[in-house]
Amino acid sequence: MSNKLGSIEAGGTKFVLAVADETYKVSAKKRIPTLTPDETLAACIDFFKENPVDAIGLGSFGPIGIKTGTADYGHILSTPKPGWAGTDMVGILTAALHVPIYFTTDVNASVYGEYIAGSAKDVDSAVYFTIGTGIGGGAIQDGQFVGGYSHLEMGHAPVMMHPDDDFVGSCPFHGNRCYEGVAAGPTIEARTGERGENLKRDNPVFDYINYYAAQMAFSAYVNLTPEKIIFGGSVINDDDMVKVRQYFNELNNGYIQVPDDMIVHSHFADNASATVGDFALAASLLK
Ligand code: ZN
Repeated sequence: MSNKLGSIEAGGTKFVLAVADETYKVSAKKRIPTLTPDETLAACIDFFKENPVDAIGLGSFGPIGIKTGTADYGHILSTPKPGWAGTDMVGILTAALHVPIYFTTDVNASVYGEYIAGSAKDVDSAVYFTIGTGIGGGAIQDGQFVGGYSHLEMGHAPVMMHPDDDFVGSCPFHGNRCYEGVAAGPTIEARTGERGENLKRDNPVFDYINYYAAQMAFSAYVNLTPEKIIFGGSVINDDDMVKVRQYFNELNNGYIQVPDDMIVHSHFADNASATVGDFALAASLLK
C-alpha cells in the first residue's frame, strides 16, 4: 500500500499545506494565512483530518528548536512574529494527528527538495539560500543537513556594503551588518518607497542585492565548498544569476576554480523545492 505524505511550509505570512503520494504527485493543496498559532495550527489539523497522511515534513520559519531530545525541540523560538515565540508546533500537531513529523527549517526543506529532485540531484552537497521576506540558508552534505548546536543562520552572517549603498539596514539585531538587514525583500521598499515588483529591474537596488547574493555564495563556497549554490525566494530570479556569478568571480579573484553553473536559481517555480523536500523528509520517517 502506498503511503500518503504531508507537507507543511510554515511561513511568516502564509502556510502551504499539501498531500502527495510517494512519487510526490500532489492530490490536495491549501494556502492559509499565518494568523495566531491557535488559529493557524487548528487549520492545519483540519486539513490533515480531511486529507489523512502517514507522515508530515514540516519546514518552518525560524528560529526553531530542531535538536531532538532538548526542551526546545519542535518549538518556534525567539521570533518577533506576535504570539509565535515558544509555540510547540510539533507537540500540538502530533497530539492531534498522531503521525510522525520531520521538523526542520524552511531552507533545509528547500535544499533537501533540490537534492532529491532539483538542481542538486546529481551532486552530494549543496547550499540553498532564500531571499524573500527574510534571508536564510540551508546546507546538505552527503544527504545530511549541516548544523550543530542549532540550524544554520546564514542570513545573519556579516556583509560588506556595496560602495554606493548607504542603507541603514533593517535587521533588528544587526542593522546593515548582516545580509538580511540589507538584502531581504522589505529592504527594497525601505530604500525606494516601492515594493520590488513595482520597480524596473535596472533599479540600482537590484544590483545591490545581486552584490550581496554573490557575497553569500562566496562565503558559502569558502566555508563549505558545496557543489551547488542555489538561490530561491521572491526577490531574485534566474536572470540575476549572470550578475551574481560575475560578482562572485570578482570576489574570488581567480583564487579557486569553480564551474560557472555552480551558482544556479531554484529548479522549481513558486518555492516548490520546499514542498518536495517536505514530502521526501516525511517519506524518510516511514522507511
Ligand atoms: Zn541580522
